[in-house]
Amino acid sequence: MNDCVFCRIVAGEALATKVYEDDTLCAFLDIRPIARGHTLVIPKSHAAELDDLAPDLGARIFRLGHRLALAARRGGLSADGANLVLNDGRAAFQTVPHIHLHVIPRRRGDTFAFAKGFLLRRPHDPIATAAALGAGLAALDPPDAGDTDREGTPS
Ligand code: 5GP
Ligand code: ZN
Repeated sequence: MNDCVFCRIVAGEALATKVYEDDTLCAFLDIRPIARGHTLVIPKSHAAELDDLAPDLGARIFRLGHRLALAARRGGLSADGANLVLNDGRAAFQTVPHIHLHVIPRRRGDTFAFAKGFLLRRPHDPIATAAALGAGLAALDPPDAGDTDREGTPS
């Protein structure tokens, strides 16, 4: 096993509150969330930067980020929107060299809370937060047939 913390999370060797996983992807709560429900979507196989990522996998990562943003609206988090951000490379302030898409739920008029969260980055009841996102995912329409793998999970 390499010394990548996100690879260790995938392998179950480092703790994280997982929100979703399938054969190729994993999504878990950011340990220092900017807002409640701040989630990271990663490929299970190590890729440091976009340069190392297969384009199809990039599309899958975005598709799951899209679903998580919708889940934050439909589930108990009652989000009104989301910031989806991917910092590619140290030049772009990427700090963990395993590619990840940030999905950060937003609420109307949350500018002050967002700015505070950006500075403090404190966890918000991870178990309840992950359950709210899970309920939101369950409330979504199943992915289109063309978007599913054999198990019926988003591919
Ligand atoms: P970056 O700046 O690379 O785009 O974002 C890295 C993110 O990973 C940060 O938001 C940081 O809080 C999060 N992070 C770093 N280490 C861990 C960890 O061990 N567990 C979890 N869940 N998140 C982490
Ligand atoms: Zn890794």
